[in-house]
Amino acid sequence: MKKLPGAPFVARRGAELCLEGVPLDRLGADFGTPVFAYSGGAIAAALTAYQRALQGRRHLLCYAVKANSNLALLRRFATNGCGFDIVSGGELQRVLEAGATADRVVFSGVGKSRAEMVLALHSGVRCFNVESDSELSLLSDVAVAEGMTAAVSLRVNPDVDPRTHPYISTGLRGNKFGIAHDQAVATYRRAASMPGIRVAGIDCHIGSQITTIEPYLEALDRLLDLVEAVEREGIALHHLDLGGGLGIIYTDEEPPDPGVLIAAMLARIDQRGHGHREILVEPGRSLVGNAGVLVTTALVLKKGQERNFCVVDAAMNDLIRPALYDAWMAIEPCLLRSEPAATWDVVGPICESGDWLGRDRELAVREGDRLTVLSAGAYAMSMASNYNSRGRAAEVLVEGDRTTLIRRRETIDDLLAPERLG
Ligand SMILES: *Cc1c(COP(=O)(O)O)cnc(C)c1O
Repeated sequence: MKKLPGAPFVARRGAELCLEGVPLDRLGADFGTPVFAYSGGAIAAALTAYQRALQGRRHLLCYAVKANSNLALLRRFATNGCGFDIVSGGELQRVLEAGATADRVVFSGVGKSRAEMVLALHSGVRCFNVESDSELSLLSDVAVAEGMTAAVSLRVNPDVDPRTHPYISTGLRGNKFGIAHDQAVATYRRAASMPGIRVAGIDCHIGSQITTIEPYLEALDRLLDLVEAVEREGIALHHLDLGGGLGIIYTDEEPPDPGVLIAAMLARIDQRGHGHREILVEPGRSLVGNAGVLVTTALVLKKGQERNFCVVDAAMNDLIRPALYDAWMAIEPCLLRSEPAATWDVVGPICESGDWLGRDRELAVREGDRLTVLSAGAYAMSMASNYNSRGRAAEVLVEGDRTTLIRRRETIDDLLAPERLG
């Protein structure tokens, strides 16, 4: 039998598709659909792979919250010694609510507001990853006004092609992210002279769903060149933040194991004489992506002249990756049927032709059957919306044969609460 994305935590037992010890058909029946389910074991295994590789080094592993920001998952990361990479004041409040200590939080993002800076300073975040000269000036002003000093790392853009989807490639010269490589020394000089700023480190993040080691090593070499140039100016850089971006398996990708990637980067860092520096990493997708699934129910089968449509109760508001990135995600029946398969476009009920989850899928499916979209743990629920006045899905954590509801399904009252008739 073929190996499924998410294996061994996602596997077939006879006809049943299971997440750890739980049949997903039953999970769909118990909690209703659409429902996201996450394997606690898969998340712990991914985390351990990073932690093992970093053992014996001064380091901070910062989970990138935007990949999946459910409080129960954040709580588990915090309990297991993880720090967090956040990109908004909302994410900061989330991680604090989940029990994180702010000194293990780094604040990334290309557009931080004054209010977010104030909140982050008073919470005591460990570092601001600054992405422009004007952000640096504003941050210094805000810090001075608050009688504080902001620890800063400049996010530099190494101009390296991560060879991933253009929407999730962030380290090329033409992207909005980071400070250009050839401007970075000048910006560090400015930073070092500003009253509200304390220079702490350097960082880069070149993209997401990267499946080879080479772009990382290229970016790292460019980063270390800069570290040497900046320190020649007498400005000390204590930490190196290597960003996130490691890919997962959606179909037949073969991303390196996190341990292999980190070991290769540490070897390069040592080789170039930078082994004494503290290392930060910011993985998101690779910690949660393959651990999650989306269970949905086939509502209507429409056989057409050109295409067959299987309309399911999950839609682009639940899972926008196919519509947004043209992403291919595996779709499996929860229960295998022993009848011939047909070719289906699996689509949602939303009034958009872009509302599809998978095209040209060979499936033996009947109305009322439950299907599962695999590798849906990252950038799925965290990107969900209420388009078409659809409440967002429930989320369930699976540990062994135990299930825990970690987010109830949204009701129409939840959706209407902020609105007024005028
Ligand atoms: C999104 C993001 C990450 C995490 O990326 P993944 O591809 O999910 O690992 C890390 N750092 C920054 C600055 C980000 O914006």
